[in-house]
Parts: sequence; C-alpha cells; structure tokens
Amino acid sequence: MSATRAVVIGGGVAGVTAALDLADRAVDVTLVEVRPRLGGAAYSFERDGLALDNGQHVFLRCCTDYRALLDRIGGSGGVELQSRLEIPVLRPGHAPALLRRSRLPAPGHLGPALLRYGHLSVRERIGVARAALKLARVDPARDDETFGKWLAAHGQSPRAIANLWDLIALPTLNLPAAQASLGLGAFVFQEGLLRGAAAGDIGTHRAPLGEIIGAPALRTLQRSGVDVRLRWRAQEVERDGERFEVRGEQDDLTADAVVLAVPHPRAAAIMPSELRVAAAAFEGLGSSPIVNVHVVYDRHVLDHRFAAGVDSPVQYVFDRTPADWDDERQYVAVSLSGAELEVAMRTEELRERYVPALAELLPRAGNAEVLIFAVTREHAATFRAAPGTRALRPSARTSVPGFALAGAWTATNWPATLEGAARSGHAAASVAMEHIRGL
Ligand SMILES: Cc1cc2nc3c(=O)[nH]c(=O)nc-3n(C[C@H](O)[C@H](O)[C@H](O)COP(=O)(O)OP(=O)(O)OC[C@H]3O[C@@H](n4cnc5c(N)ncnc54)[C@H](O)[C@@H]3O)c2cc1C
Repeated sequence: MSATRAVVIGGGVAGVTAALDLADRAVDVTLVEVRPRLGGAAYSFERDGLALDNGQHVFLRCCTDYRALLDRIGGSGGVELQSRLEIPVLRPGHAPALLRRSRLPAPGHLGPALLRYGHLSVRERIGVARAALKLARVDPARDDETFGKWLAAHGQSPRAIANLWDLIALPTLNLPAAQASLGLGAFVFQEGLLRGAAAGDIGTHRAPLGEIIGAPALRTLQRSGVDVRLRWRAQEVERDGERFEVRGEQDDLTADAVVLAVPHPRAAAIMPSELRVAAAAFEGLGSSPIVNVHVVYDRHVLDHRFAAGVDSPVQYVFDRTPADWDDERQYVAVSLSGAELEVAMRTEELRERYVPALAELLPRAGNAEVLIFAVTREHAATFRAAPGTRALRPSARTSVPGFALAGAWTATNWPATLEGAARSGHAAASVAMEHIRGL
C-alpha cells in the first residue's frame, strides 16, 4: 500500500485540471485512470492508418479555463481559434449563407449577418433578432421547460428553430432545442453570443485530440511531479477516520483528500457509502449520444474549415485532412449531436444516408470516390441536458470533508463541455485543498 496526500480518480479534462491545481499547490498527487491514456471523452485513435477523433470537439473564445489548460499543457499549437466568428451554412440547391460577426459590439455584432441570412425569410430574421434580445434576459436557472417551447412562445417558427437556433443549440447542448433545458439554452446564447462580441469565436482541434490533450497532459502531470497510474481502475473509496482508502483492482491508495472525476454513471459506485444515497439522484441525468461519420475522398470537396448544414441530415462537417497529406485527398468528418437515431444505425445505413447527403451539400463530392468510410459512436457522450437537470447536478463540495466531485456533469452552470470539465476540476481542487490545509 502506498501513501499519498491527494488522489484524483479519472484522467479526463476535469481530473487533469484538478491534479495540476493540487500539484501547483505542493500537494503530493496520484492520478489514476482506468484506460491506457489520458483525455477521457476527448480522444483519438488510429483506424486504416488514419488518426480519428472520437468526435469533433469545438470550443469558443469564452472557454477561458479550457484554453488556459491547453496553454498549460502545451496543446494550444494543435488548435485554431477564429479571429472572428464565422459559420458557413450550406443548404442543398442554395447559395451558402455566412453567419459572421461584424465589428459592432454585442449584441449588435450578429445583426448584419442575421439580416442577410438567406435560409430564413425576412420576417423570420427580424423575429430571431427580437427573441435573441429577450433571451438575453432569461434566468439561466430556469429549468422548468424546454428551450424549444420558449422559442415557439416567442414567435419562432419550426424553420427558424431548425435553420438557426439549433445550429448553436444542438452542438453545445447535445440535444435539439425541442428537448433541451431553457436555462442551459439561455446560458449558451448569453455566454457565447450575446454578452461579448468575441466570446463566440470558434476554436477547432486541427491535430488529433490525443496529441492536443492526452499526451501533453501526461507529460505535464509527470513534469509537475504527479504520479500518473494508467490502467488503474478505482473500485471504491472508503473513509478510514480522517483519511480515505481508494481501492483498486490490485493496489490500494491512502489519501487525505480525493477528487472523483469520472462520468456520472460510474461515480455512485465509487463514492464513500454515506454519499451513495445522494448519488442516486445524479444517475437521473441520463445521457445523450454523438455520432461522427468520417469520409476520405480522393479529391478536395469542402472549401471551409467547417460548415453547418440545414435541410440536410448533415449537422456540421469539418475538414480534418492531416497536415502532412500532400495529394488531392480530403478527410471530412460529419458531427451529429443528439444522435438518438443515428447511434442505432449500422455503418452501411449511415453510408447510404450520408454519402448522398454530403454530395448534395458539397457538389464536388458527387463525383468523388470514397476511399475510407468510418463511423464513431459515443452512446453516452454527455449527460442529457433536458429540463430538470439543474437540480440533479451536484456541486464539487460533498458532505464528506475532503471528498470532492469533478466532471462536466457537476454543477458548473455550463453544459457538458471541455470548459465545464476544466472549471469543475478547478472547483474540486479548491475543495480538496481547503481540507488539506485544515488538517
Ligand atoms: C463525441 C463527443 C463530442 C464532444 N464534443 C464536444 C465539443 O465539441 N465541445 C465540448 O466542449 N465538449 C464536447 N464533448 C464533451 C466533452 O468531451 C466532455 O464534456 C469532457 O471531455 C468531459 O470531461 P470529464 O473530465 O468531465 O470526463 P471524462 O472525459 O469522461 O473523464 C472521466 C475519466 O474517468 C475515467 N474513469 C472512469 N471510471 C474510472 C475508474 N473506476 N477508475 C479510474 N478512472 C476511471 C474514464 O476512463 C475517463 O478517462 C464531446 C464529447 C464527446 C464524447
């Protein structure tokens, strides 16, 4: 049995952030992670000689804690942040529309793009602007109805919801507005689009996620003196007087403080027994799937870093061509959030659906040969951001002193995101630190 001051369980963004914070404050930290790599829900792997991300991950300029983490671990070189928000919106048979912020201050920065937005009628565009101003005043704690219901009550047509509101709601909440919590929807629009003009500039991961998060995080933790144990499954945490025993499959660890940073369906079984009744509540958070369709064409078909689709099953498509390819091939990845239907479809069915859909949006794809077609499915990508979730998300501080919770699913106010995970890691480390200082 080894002795340690703090144990962090889970090596996703939340656990990595917490471990670095504790190590920065001169605490002896051991981080245990069941998988052979760090990065948690944001990872990459190789298939057919191609590095695939399990899912396209985007972030916004307002994701300050996640961006700071990337700077800290040296991952920022693999990401690209737009200098100005710009979303090309493609629609079969129509000219693309561009949602681009102007130089005006918020919330007027999106006004000119909205007034020119060709995928809605002029009346719908004016209606969207009016509703956006009202949304700026909605309390993010409103968790009693769906965002879609609120939008409809504020004059938004089903087309306005599909062709505009869901372009933002689906990828950030991992649910369409019709199913998502009003409070979380309001939070995303307020934080990302309505408060500061630059807040919503979009960041994309250009290199594989493992090179941006997992591998650099491991190097940084080790350089900071954190004892990282991969392939180490925590089975349960028991309280032993003032201390904790973290039980593993082959080994146990003793700690003064523990940060549990695993996904919510795994957390309850690991928590000290006196917390397990409370833990039953957050199992009600449920989950929402994400599917990605990866296609390598024999030629260049997509002229944007990424684009959204409307009137198409393609929600977003990203150019993921590796930097070292020097021929005509292009690798594009279609990201499908809230993918309840798609997650149950076989690869062949997805191919029958998405290869023609991409050809409709990207005319050159119609004549191109598909060299590789692959699918990644994350059944429980995030918690289900439906009404009622706010009350189910626990804070970092538990009723057991020294035992803290972290994870994108905890009470961060953010939806399940990289930013929420980073913030939760800081919050949990502060709770653990407070306890350690009081010993
Ligand atoms: C396909 C997909 C696309 C996404 N897209 C975006 C996006 O565009 N933008 C965005 O901001 N967010 C996105 N997200 C969400 C984001 O990835 C997550 O919110 C975030 O990575 C969660 O981090 P976390 O540290 O809270 O949890 P996790 O990353 O789930 O980390 C928990 C870790 O705990 C480990 N673990 C579990 N049980 C044990 C155990 N018993 N012992 C030891 N270790 C254990 C797990 O292996 C895992 O590594 C996406 C998620 C997915 C899956």
